[in-house]
Amino acid sequence: MKLDTPNLATPFYQAAGDEIAVFEHAWRNRLPLLIKGPTGCGKTRFVAYMAARLGLPLYTVACHDDLTAADLVGRHLIGEGRTVWCDGPLTRAVREGGICYLDEVVEARKDTTVVLHPLADDRRILPIDRTGELLEAPPGFMLVVSYNPGYQNLLKGMKPSTRQRFVSLRFDFPAAEREEAILRGETGCTPDLARRLVGIAGALRALKDRDLEEAASTRLLIYAALLIKDGMDAVAACRVAIVESLTDDPEVAEGLMEVVAATF
Ligand code: ADP
Repeated sequence: MKLDTPNLATPFYQAAGDEIAVFEHAWRNRLPLLIKGPTGCGKTRFVAYMAARLGLPLYTVACHDDLTAADLVGRHLIGEGRTVWCDGPLTRAVREGGICYLDEVVEARKDTTVVLHPLADDRRILPIDRTGELLEAPPGFMLVVSYNPGYQNLLKGMKPSTRQRFVSLRFDFPAAEREEAILRGETGCTPDLARRLVGIAGALRALKDRDLEEAASTRLLIYAALLIKDGMDAVAACRVAIVESLTDDPEVAEGLMEVVAATF
């Protein structure tokens, strides 16, 4: 779990379409937002960018299957011989009128989504049973959740009663030109290197579903660009940053390396 410090600088974000305007409309109208898309396609970066743009504190929670409602809301801690209440990230975001971003929300245990419901509809309240408080979210507060609707979440999905409380944005891997701009912006690599890496990603993404569970993400391309910029051989960098991160199967890896070898 990560409690972000209030935004220091606006992070670099290359927009795809009207997602910035959608976010602002939703925020102004106090509507929660769901962002769905494959891993590493810019969801978290987008939320960080919007928090900085709107001047709001951001609390990010990476959800996992042990995450409990208390992890979000808070708990009593024992210290110096007495018990003190400690707000969780969701409660802090509500108190401060900031953004609470739950990354990979479908990973969280079902009971955690229950605490989100009264916050995600027009009541905008957070009852804290253990302290007896009933917090009303101030206008600045926004609940943002994301999930990857890909293969491994097919069974989990999101309950209709939860998802129908959100305005929903679909993210996908960036178009080639935009992904090249992201690579250059993030790593300062040459346009030529950006073009080649994005070409590899395009070829590998075409293989998805056949051999791979997950497609090559922009994040992996960034890793490869950084290693190459640092002096690593391009083919070796693509192996460790892209290919081996995508598959454990040696044969599939060699197939992917052919795509790399055709480029460098
Ligand atoms: P997700 O939350 O969808 O898994 P992230 O937002 O963490 O993915 O994106 C992974 C990395 O890719 C980011 O750290 C950033 O370096 C880069 N990235 C992806 N999309 C963008 C974008 N549109 N603008 C700037 N950087 C991006």
